[in-house]
Amino acid sequence: MSFILEGATNLQFAEGTDKIFWKWSADGTFSSTKTYKLMASIGKIKTPVLWNWKLRLPPKIKLFSLLLLQGKLLTQQALLRRNIQIHTGCSLCSESLVEDSLHLFFTCTYSTRLWQLVGNLTGLAFPVISDTVLQTVLNTESSLSGPGKDKMLAYMFTTLWSLWNERNNRRSRDEAKPVHVLAKSIQEDGALFFKHS
Ligand SMILES: [Zn+2]
Repeated sequence: MSFILEGATNLQFAEGTDKIFWKWSADGTFSSTKTYKLMASIGKIKTPVLWNWKLRLPPKIKLFSLLLLQGKLLTQQALLRRNIQIHTGCSLCSESLVEDSLHLFFTCTYSTRLWQLVGNLTGLAFPVISDTVLQTVLNTESSLSGPGKDKMLAYMFTTLWSLWNERNNRRSRDEAKPVHVLAKSIQEDGALFFKHS
């Protein structure tokens, strides 16, 4: 598992771009099927319910979700733990704190508002925030049932990915989307992903 995540770590340094160079395939392109087989062959997937590869999502969002749920995203808190010097402060709300995953994805004022707006637009259940991102996602997942479950989970991961993307765009390109614009694009992306479902 660790070497897969090492390969996936490249994603974190390619801020502001959707291009991912995937070092485990010959041409550098990412394949979720290949990656799944690779992972299945070398170890256990610890979050099988969450890591539902059947979800209709682009590979980049699946990869991001895996890193997020494994606690492997390079947030400011994660960088400081590695003794990497950085400027701190939340890119989304400008609060002067050390950014961690729970703040970034759920408790930040920007994120909280985004979940509300996406909820209004899609019928997505607003996540009940727990102590960690993983627990919050697990709680949300276990509260869902029925045929709409995959769709709801897919919207949730798309929202989480969009928050990370927005954070990276603000840091690397100084581009900031108003929260209602981001919510609308999540709704549109979702409609595209589920077009054939
Ligand atoms: Zn914030």
